[in-house]
Amino acid sequence: MMKETNKMKKTVIDYNTDLTGLINIDGKKLPINNAIKGETLEVNYTNNKKTLKVDKIIEPSIYRITPPCNIYNRCGGCKLLHIKYEHQLELKTNLVKELFKDFKVKINDTLGMTNPNHYRNKNQIVFGFDDKRRIVSGFYEEFTHKIVNFETCYVQDEISDNIVKTIKDLFLKMHIMPYDETKRRGLIRHVMIKRSKALNETMVIIVTSQDVFPGRQNFIKALLAKHKDITTIIQNINPKATTHVLGDKEIVLFGKGYINDILCDCKFKISSKSFYQINPTQTKVLYEKAIELANLKKDEIVLDAYSGVGTIGIVLSKNVKKVISVELEKSSHIDAINNAKINNIKNIQFFNDDATRFIINLANKKEHIDVVIMDPPRKGSDEGFLKAVLKLKPKKIIYISCNPQTQVIDLKYLINDYKITYVQPVDMFPQTHHVETVVCLERK
Ligand code: SAH
Repeated sequence: MMKETNKMKKTVIDYNTDLTGLINIDGKKLPINNAIKGETLEVNYTNNKKTLKVDKIIEPSIYRITPPCNIYNRCGGCKLLHIKYEHQLELKTNLVKELFKDFKVKINDTLGMTNPNHYRNKNQIVFGFDDKRRIVSGFYEEFTHKIVNFETCYVQDEISDNIVKTIKDLFLKMHIMPYDETKRRGLIRHVMIKRSKALNETMVIIVTSQDVFPGRQNFIKALLAKHKDITTIIQNINPKATTHVLGDKEIVLFGKGYINDILCDCKFKISSKSFYQINPTQTKVLYEKAIELANLKKDEIVLDAYSGVGTIGIVLSKNVKKVISVELEKSSHIDAINNAKINNIKNIQFFNDDATRFIINLANKKEHIDVVIMDPPRKGSDEGFLKAVLKLKPKKIIYISCNPQTQVIDLKYLINDYKITYVQPVDMFPQTHHVETVVCLERK
């Protein structure tokens, strides 16, 4: 296709499923970043570009604010920083309403945060070079492998951001070079920081391309001297040409190799590789809602599927007779077993298996399950799992999802036998287009 660029005046007519704006060009609805419904914009339309960009705002929306971030236009992280927070919540509720419209159920207002900033407990920074071969550290630009340099971030933890700054300065001073993806040379690939605000424990993970890390001891000494909050430092080695951040091999350079956190009055051990919810304030809101909807009885048996480090099952275990948890990822499974021990919980069993294979087995053995709590990854669950749930016939299903689009597809398998009785969106990821939902289903 020939590249053609036209400047045009357009009104934003609607939102796409990722809450980017939509404008009409030649009868086609095209997505445009950083645009609010109802606004009139000047747009540079290049016919071979994936996403359009706003050139000038002619009539701004009443919901528009100046984004509190100086790399917002380039960074692929947040998408809604230009929209007032209360309106972000309304947009998320509307999105869920649209997705769930065939079910004809009430959608509750999205539960938001009082302070929707610096909420993340995990920072992930990529190190590399820019076009001019300058060392950069930050985030990937949307749809590219270009790194946008950053100093502060509106949603990440501020203590962790300061640690990243020190790390970058030390790398420069000590001539420790970032990894170059194209030449496959250099050492530092990523820096990941996980933090427990509740216990003030901080884990720094330096992802390197090889085992040999010249100047390692001096680097650790200098870093610890500057940041008393750091409780453990890990070197993760990832030699592969891959989009995965972490490799298999790890060396603990300082401390115990993990951190602890407190969530819903329980203590959790978190290691570098295990899954752990990134917004602790809202995780509490989410879990409390899920547990309230489950309305558990002392004699009941609960299946916690896709259980991560065992958090939901452990938090609700005191309300029931027994919890059975299943998780595929080995390191999360091991952490889950430890977490039950730390909290002195004896009525929970953990299985390291594929949730579908595991639940089919339970259904074939005609196990009795009163409530299924499921919290699958973004791609959702699958037909095998859902059919086995129907065979198990639990009284209730609590379906937690970080992607209501795949959740809706899955719910269609269940609604002949189950009635959707409650839908609660929760804002786990303020300033981004993501929304989490808790859905309660009761057997007809
Ligand atoms: N309920 C947990 C984790 C939710 S994230 C929490 O609230 O923290 C989804 C989890 O599903 C991840 O831990 C992931 O490792 C796990 N997972 C992904 N595919 C799976 C599968 N096929 N079977 C079991 N677990 C799976």
